[in-house]
Amino acid sequence: MGVLTKKVKGAEDILPRDVYKWQFVEDIMKKEAESFGFKEIRTPVFEHTVLFNRSVGETTDVVQKEMYTFDTKGGESITLRPEGTAGAARAYLEHALYNDGLPVKVYYLLTCYRYEKAQAGRQREFHQFGMETYGAPDPKSDAEMICAVANIFNRLGINNINLEINSIGCKNCRKDYTSALKGYFEKHRDVLCPTCLSRLERNPMRILDCKNEACHEVAKKAPTVLEYICSDCSEKFEKVKTFLDIADIDYTVNPTIVRGLDYYTNTVFEFVTDCIGAQSTVCGGGRYDGLIEELGGQPTPSLGFAMGIERLLMVMEAQGIEIPKPSGCDLYIAALGEDAEKKSFRLIKELREASLTAEGDIVGRGLRAQMKYADKIGAKFSMVIGDDDITANKASVKNMETGDKFDVPLDDRFFESFIEKYMANYGRSMKMPTQ
Ligand code: ATP
Ligand code: MG
Repeated sequence: MGVLTKKVKGAEDILPRDVYKWQFVEDIMKKEAESFGFKEIRTPVFEHTVLFNRSVGETTDVVQKEMYTFDTKGGESITLRPEGTAGAARAYLEHALYNDGLPVKVYYLLTCYRYEKAQAGRQREFHQFGMETYGAPDPKSDAEMICAVANIFNRLGINNINLEINSIGCKNCRKDYTSALKGYFEKHRDVLCPTCLSRLERNPMRILDCKNEACHEVAKKAPTVLEYICSDCSEKFEKVKTFLDIADIDYTVNPTIVRGLDYYTNTVFEFVTDCIGAQSTVCGGGRYDGLIEELGGQPTPSLGFAMGIERLLMVMEAQGIEIPKPSGCDLYIAALGEDAEKKSFRLIKELREASLTAEGDIVGRGLRAQMKYADKIGAKFSMVIGDDDITANKASVKNMETGDKFDVPLDDRFFESFIEKYMANYGRSMKMPTQ
């Protein structure tokens, strides 16, 4: 196959036959976020490179290895967003959203770009749903954010997904931890990968997140952050757990979770499953109290999470969760003859105005082929109009599922007559007619 008909490696098409799955989960996510008072934000697909260097962090895998960065013709360095938090935070500051009153709560559905080794659950273009709250210092908000994720999983019917939480403390208490880690990893220099050797100097906590097998093994026995966090951070973490308990949300404390992005402080969490192979984290998030200040704003305690939609759909498939297929065409009108074609064109227009899905032939097919097509697209009803029917002022409608037939008048009473039968069969899934 030539390059003209081949997609770029690591990117996927979402085809019309599958898109309903995406629309279904996206709809649930949006409704859930909105029920918590979050509003959607849409930011550009690219940003100034420095925004990600500064917020995601210079020593992270994302910045060191994974970004799609290029110079524009004007000589600016631009990067395709590898995640959604940085762009949302930039927009929050640029448009002074804090003037609308704190907390500011936004959610997003977007594509992300990371130059990674493409495999199941790991793509170069992928989709994230995420939520961000700016100006919420109370640990209650951490629990609330986690509730939103748990609700989404529940509504989608997903089981066996475990919430793992940890606290990585504040900037201050992390100093001691960082030096303890440094001391520990110094003793294991010989097994660390070159990237981790440079991290050892600049950001030893990043070593805990390395995917290299040898580094991972050493990291398992490293001192854990919970032994080092200050009493204030420890109290906050206890409060998060209390509110998770109140909300009946199960969790495990996993002191090895540090997240792959530099901006996190205090609470971090992941939702992990063992049903989709190696890429087992479906959702990750936490608190990033320092980020807004780092980007030039006032100190603004904030938090958020992002969920990978590809991985989420993989979990649903692995757990055999069926997503309802949309209803498709309500009425297919097959016409034979010039007058019948004109009549059907007009009726189809009116059905659509009444918010029904109606279709007719635009290919030039004969009657049999039109009926075959109506069957293929899953039309609920079909109707055949010939020129004779126009003279007789009535036509026959067939319920494609049951095979039952009934006549409808082709004049002003057509709509009422068809709707009556339609309601009798599909009343509950009826889209509201506008007339
Ligand atoms: P991982 O450890 O699997 O690389 P990450 O820590 O890099 O994940 P985040 O930056 O926290 O991931 O992104 C949040 C979520 O986005 C992940 O939990 C995952 O579901 C999804 N995600 C991240 N990278 C990819 C990717 N390359 N392809 C598909 N989904 C991804
Ligand atoms: Mg990653």
